[in-house]
Amino acid sequence: MRLVIVGGGPAGLAAARGYRDAGGTGDVTLLTPELVLPYQRPPLSKDFLRGEVDDSDLPIEAEAWYAEHGVTVRLGAEVATLDAASKTLTLGSGETLSYDACVLATGAEPSILPVPGATEDWVLVLRTLATARVLRDRAEQAETGLVVGSGFIGCEVAASLAMRGVAVTLASDEDIPHASRLGEEAGRRIQGWLEDLGVTLRLGQPVEALSEDAADLILMAAGVTPRAGLAETAGLDTRDGRIVVDERMRTSAEHVYAAGDVAFARNAAAGRHLAVEHWGEALNMGEIAGRTIAGDAEAQWDVAPGFWSTIGTHTLKYVAWGDGFDEARLVEHGGGAWTIWYGTEGRTVGVLTHERDDDYETGRQLIEAGAPLP
Ligand SMILES: Cc1cc2nc3c(=O)[nH]c(=O)nc-3n(C[C@H](O)[C@H](O)[C@H](O)COP(=O)(O)OP(=O)(O)OC[C@H]3O[C@@H](n4cnc5c(N)ncnc54)[C@H](O)[C@@H]3O)c2cc1C
Repeated sequence: MRLVIVGGGPAGLAAARGYRDAGGTGDVTLLTPELVLPYQRPPLSKDFLRGEVDDSDLPIEAEAWYAEHGVTVRLGAEVATLDAASKTLTLGSGETLSYDACVLATGAEPSILPVPGATEDWVLVLRTLATARVLRDRAEQAETGLVVGSGFIGCEVAASLAMRGVAVTLASDEDIPHASRLGEEAGRRIQGWLEDLGVTLRLGQPVEALSEDAADLILMAAGVTPRAGLAETAGLDTRDGRIVVDERMRTSAEHVYAAGDVAFARNAAAGRHLAVEHWGEALNMGEIAGRTIAGDAEAQWDVAPGFWSTIGTHTLKYVAWGDGFDEARLVEHGGGAWTIWYGTEGRTVGVLTHERDDDYETGRQLIEAGAPLP
């Protein structure tokens, strides 16, 4: 039995770990084009950018873990094609690898807005440790910064740069950051935190072109695009650029699984497929893929997806199906703590908390049970 995992992010690593934890005894090989062992991405826009942690704090598992668990990691190995009929993968180098089970955990890459200047090398993006090092080095010299995009990564980076003393402008076509995803009430609070840090907000105006002299440092943070190309060319089912999998992470091709940001996975509790781009869910989905391959018939994705974001000194915790709501109810707890409950047709579908962990935990249960909005 040979398990080959394509991708060295949290989903890929968790697939290896889940396979071993469930008693899988086959050979496990993990392929990644990156030149470092799997590491944590969330700090890259937060403590790492602010210089509060460095490379040595980032590995998900210590180097010794891989040998102890019989997981061979091949760094600098990018898969070029998948042939599901012959159960083979071809690397960019031309080498062919055969598998008995394969997990596609190729994640996502930063989207680039189709505007003049966007593909120039002075426009930075943030996804990998390599890109994070460039951003941090540039931030050390920069007096001014421009962040394009008001999603979580854009807001986190803008806050971290401001905390470093960079004069930052955040530009976005959204009128209020996160309003479409979290509602206006939450968005205004996030906007206030950014303004308190001195970030200049240029909202409600699409960026139509980028010029090098706009700022010393320019970051494009306009969302991500899943990397489903291997699956698409192999003829696997995909939807909206993601690989369709069931609640056990099985794709439409036998012996091929997918997990993490690249997957459009069925959530058993939601009763539908969901697109999520969360660290914790990449770990969950990867583990389920690994366990399923090892023969664990119970493993399935049935938790409400959760996400944390830290913008400056404020940590938001969000758990939700993430595919919309028709009502948002704010509850103030005093001392800056608050909760927003999200509902659809009276049922709880999400909760966003600031300094109110109890509601985050309770909210997850209400969401999974489809309970009435509290
Ligand atoms: C700066 C930053 C901050 C974030 N902060 C948070 C946060 O606070 N909370 C949160 O929940 N989420 C956060 N996220 C999102 C989170 O990191 C992602 O949801 C998560 O990394 C997805 O994991 P993944 O394993 O699916 O994909 P990835 O982490 O993207 O890993 C995919 C891997 O596949 C490799 N790969 C791609 N193509 C190939 C190929 N053809 N052959 C071989 N390997 C390939 C890639 O090189 C990479 O190693 C953040 C992301 C970033 C970039």
